[in-house]
This record gives sequence, C-alpha cells and structure tokens, in this order.
Amino acid sequence: MKYCSTRGGVNGVSFQQSLLMGLGSDGGLLVPEYIPNIVPQLEDWRSLDFPSLAKELISIFADDIERSTLNDLIDQAYTTFDHPEVVPIRELGDVTLVELFHGPTLAFKDVALQLLGQLFEHALTKDGRHLNILGATSGDTGSAAIAGVRGQEKIDIFILYPNEKVSHLQELQMTTVPDSNVHCVAVNGSFDDCQSLMKEVFADLEFKEAHSLGAVNSVNWARVLAQVVYYGYVSLKFNEPVSFCVPTGNFGNVFAAYLARKMGFPIAELVVGTNENDILARFFRSGEYARGDVHHTLSPAMDIQVASNFERFLYYYFDCDVERLQAFMNDFQKTGAAHLDSAPDDAGFLATSVNTEETLAILRDVYAESGYVLDPHTAVGVAASKKCPIVGPKVCIATAHPAKFPDAVKRALPEVDSRHPTLDALVDKAERKVVIEPTLEAVKALFD
Ligand SMILES: *Cc1c(COP(=O)(O)O)cnc(C)c1O
Repeated sequence: MKYCSTRGGVNGVSFQQSLLMGLGSDGGLLVPEYIPNIVPQLEDWRSLDFPSLAKELISIFADDIERSTLNDLIDQAYTTFDHPEVVPIRELGDVTLVELFHGPTLAFKDVALQLLGQLFEHALTKDGRHLNILGATSGDTGSAAIAGVRGQEKIDIFILYPNEKVSHLQELQMTTVPDSNVHCVAVNGSFDDCQSLMKEVFADLEFKEAHSLGAVNSVNWARVLAQVVYYGYVSLKFNEPVSFCVPTGNFGNVFAAYLARKMGFPIAELVVGTNENDILARFFRSGEYARGDVHHTLSPAMDIQVASNFERFLYYYFDCDVERLQAFMNDFQKTGAAHLDSAPDDAGFLATSVNTEETLAILRDVYAESGYVLDPHTAVGVAASKKCPIVGPKVCIATAHPAKFPDAVKRALPEVDSRHPTLDALVDKAERKVVIEPTLEAVKALFD
C-alpha cells in the first residue's frame, strides 16, 4: 500500500515513510492510495480478539513491515493495557459503551499511541536513525505520546504545554515520567501559543531536517489506522449494523469510524457529539465550516475549533478531487469560513452539540440508573446519542477514565470520589520539567 497527500503534492510513499513524515511535505495529510474492501474477510474476522483483528487489518496497510514483526509490535503495544479484552464493551441498561481507557494514561489516545511507539522504534532501528518528536498538548495527547515512547533509545520526545494551564493530574502524568528521553516543556503562554510554536518549528524545513523532527499529533496516519481497529472489532460483535456515538473535537476518532464503514465493516450511523465548540456539528447540519471562538468547557480535550482530520474526510467526500479540496481549505484559511452547496446529508453522519447542563445531567442520569460514572467527554457522546434518532444497536465511545477529570465529576456528582490507582500513585513522585518563554528561539534551543 502506498500513501499520497490530500493536496496532491506527495505520492508513492510507503507506510513507514508516512509514519516518519507525519504531515505531508506539501501541507496536506497522508492517506492510503485506495481504501481496501474487507467484506470478503468479515465472517473469518468475527471470532478474533482485538490484537488479532489489529494484525489482520493493519497488515493490509503496513505491508512494508514483515508480518511476524508486525504481529510482535502489536502484541507488545497492547500488553500495557490493564484489561484482557483491551477495549471491553460495557452494557449499562439502555447505554452500551466501549471502554477505550484501559491503557497507561487512561484515555483512548493510548490505543493508537502505544502502537505508534512500537512502530517508530521499529522503523528507526531499521534505518539507524534518531528521531526528535515534538508535540504540543492541552492535556491527554502529551502523556499518551510520552507513555508510547518513554525509554526508547532512538527517540527523544519534547512536549510543549501551557504552563499552569493544564490540570495538575495531567501535568503529573507527563512530568513524573523518569526516563531521560522525555522532555516536558512548560511554556509561559496559552495552548494556542504552544501549537503555533510547534507549527513554526515544523515549517522551518531546514531545521526540521537538521534535527530529524517527527510528529505524534493526529495528522499521523498510523494513529487513525490503529483507531479503525476498535470500530471494526465492536461492529463484529453485533448481528446487525451498529451505530457509533463519538465525542469529538479534532475529528480523529470519528473519522476512524467513517473509514471502518468505508472499508465495509457493518456500521450504520455515526453520531458526532461536540461540546459548545460546535464547528463540526454546525458543518454537518448546514454545510458551513466556520471557525468560532474557543469556549472552555468540562470536556477540555474537545475545546478545539479547527479539526485537523477534517481534511481527510473532505478529501473522500470530494471523491479525492484535490483541487476542490484545496479551494475549500484555501477559503477557510483566508476567511475562517468555507461552505458546501448544501448540508452533507449523504455522508452518513448525525451531529449535535451538547452544552454544560446537558453534560452534567447525563452524568447524573447514568449514575442514577446504573451506578456508572462517565468522564465528561464520554458524557457528551452519550448525551448526543440520546438527542439523535437512531434505530438498531448503538455503542457510545468511552474516551477517558472519569478519575482524570475529577472537577467535572464532582460538579455533577458531589457524592462521588472518582479515583484510579495509577493517578493516586503520581502524587509522591519527583517532577521534571523546564519552563520557557513562548518564543521560537526558546523552542529551537531545546534541541541544542
Ligand atoms: C482527545 C480526546 C477526545 C477528542 O478526540 P478527537 O480525536 O480529537 O476527536 C475526546 N475525549 C478525550 C478524553 C480525549 O483525550
């Protein structure tokens, strides 16, 4: 399988090259040259456990890694999960969840980033290369990326985060990791400063090349691919097509569901649940993609206005018409808005935004009905599932353990003390971080 860019400027790239390239060198996102049809394999795949299905599916896309090696990397990635099924399904009365938070940092990003760490190590060892990963995080991505590559000889990882603006637990999940290849960088600025500094560094192609910089954010195709697996896996547990309800900000997770459906897994509707940052919900209702102001909500990992994987969706929605995509993205970049001629009703998405009151209410309702505590992101997806008309089975994606977001849980359920031993253990550990000013020079100096 070869990869090309959504903007048409990159072609014929292998899986491992795409892994190390991250963002396409023409500014587009890498996508496979075609989407394979997996319908002939479905019946054979129904009985597979999660890692076995991952091996079957990922080997189609990563055909430049020897099959036995790939199998080992996948096994290695998922031994770090604390549940034997890796992604267990939970029935709670009329709500069915798939819990994606059994990895080391208790959020769904581990499912992809544990594998990405293994894939990076393999690709770099083969090439004898060293990689400096640079990432920016507002919370969960940083710790999951660190957990994926800590201790690896071929990689140093530098995570920028806004000083004193991430939650204390999220900061500890990064700064208490003792491995010397991990560099936590608290920036005296906002998350937007961190993200734009990261982009500026990557845009300096000479610097990027000289310091062998790599990316772990969700523009990386391998992350999307790893997420396709759990949609396929869950869909095969049902005897009729299943709908998924996905809380989203960056359109990464729900885009993986869209791809799973495109490949032929038995998936019906996809419900996009956003918080008050509702650019995606507005798009699916009206066809208008228009940036708004960022609102700070109870589900901070979804406080995003511009969704990076949205470009991949548009690429397919435009039937791989690179020029049409470029025109749309150019409009958006120039004016902060771009639109289709009409709402994309034929794309198979339902979308709705969920406000703070609704999020708190669903946390209380589900707890009252089943004694189960949702995290505030998962709550957005569950609330969205109740607001959208769906027939047939539906599964809500549980993206984090509630103990990661104790303030939101306390606000809905003052009587509940949601804890997790992994998080409790962080409190006494030594922290390591550097604090820098929000300047390009300060970020570049990290690599001296
Ligand atoms: C990152 C994150 C999300 C949003 O996922 P996207 O792929 O960006 O849509 C939702 N919930 C949690 C807990 C997250 O960490």
